[in-house]
Amino acid sequence: MATAAKYMCFNGEIVKYENCRIHAFSNAVKYGAGLFEGLRGYWNEDDQDLYLFRLREHWSRFRYGLRVLHFDKLFDDDYLTKCVKKTLEANEFRENVHIRVIGFLDCDDELPACGPVGLVIGAMAKPRAAAVAKGINIAVSSWTRVSDNALPPRVKACANYINNRCADLEARRNGYDTALMLNPDGCVSEGATSCFFMVRDGVLITPDVTSGVLESITRDTLIRIARDRLGIPVVERRVDRTEIYAAEEAFLCASAIEVRPVVSIDKMPVGSGGVGEVTRALQNNYFDLARGSTGDHPEWRTPVYRSSSSAAAE
Ligand code: PMP
Repeated sequence: MATAAKYMCFNGEIVKYENCRIHAFSNAVKYGAGLFEGLRGYWNEDDQDLYLFRLREHWSRFRYGLRVLHFDKLFDDDYLTKCVKKTLEANEFRENVHIRVIGFLDCDDELPACGPVGLVIGAMAKPRAAAVAKGINIAVSSWTRVSDNALPPRVKACANYINNRCADLEARRNGYDTALMLNPDGCVSEGATSCFFMVRDGVLITPDVTSGVLESITRDTLIRIARDRLGIPVVERRVDRTEIYAAEEAFLCASAIEVRPVVSIDKMPVGSGGVGEVTRALQNNYFDLARGSTGDHPEWRTPVYRSSSSAAAE
């Protein structure tokens, strides 16, 4: 079971995990009126610091989601960053972590209520999973990814995740690691909680942002790594279902799962059925940037324990 560490942050205050509670009849529970954000911190042994990866981008997506959901409180970057740092410091993390942030309607009210908005933050140690090295087997889901005029796929609304959960559970029941979802047009959208990439003829291809995908921060990072650091062309476009079976390489990516090679889709091997060169190169560059083993993109790393740094952005 995945549980957050001993201390959490509830409306700005550090509380013990077991005391982090809301009313069972709150709108967050009744209507799924919550907004989720998930990000990672990477421990750098040389610097003896924990770097929060692309924090600004996570906060800007979070605030965008609050606006789309009409929540009546938008939290500013400073406050959110302080709450995250407080949570990590309270737990004295010196390892890679995954951080979860939820803005939610903390009221027992009718459907159109827009506040008060609560904020909860928890974190857990999250070492790299074996699947990052060995890859995963996935299946195209019989569940369709939510369409933009039904639930907002661009927003990490808690209620959306019933859709992702159905797809992921179905895939696991059928013996796969996770699912790949198609959008209502029958084109590839994304994984259950991740974005999809494939390689064909040396070109990195990913469904465009109008394919019903979350505008993933890992997706954006990998596109930039491919273009700027590896000189690999990237195309964002519609991807048909049958095209994925022609891929030489494929992978899923997200802050939590990082970059996971896909070695088979619907029991058909992807390429040679192993982990491809492009995927490996992207993984290595991603981890170097996230951990700060390279000085490039200092603005992507916010240190937790160093209060000020010339190499990092607050
Ligand atoms: N799609 C969905 C539905 C997700 O939940 C996630 C995880 N946040 C992603 C894609 C990947 O987004 P990110 O790279 O920003 O973590």
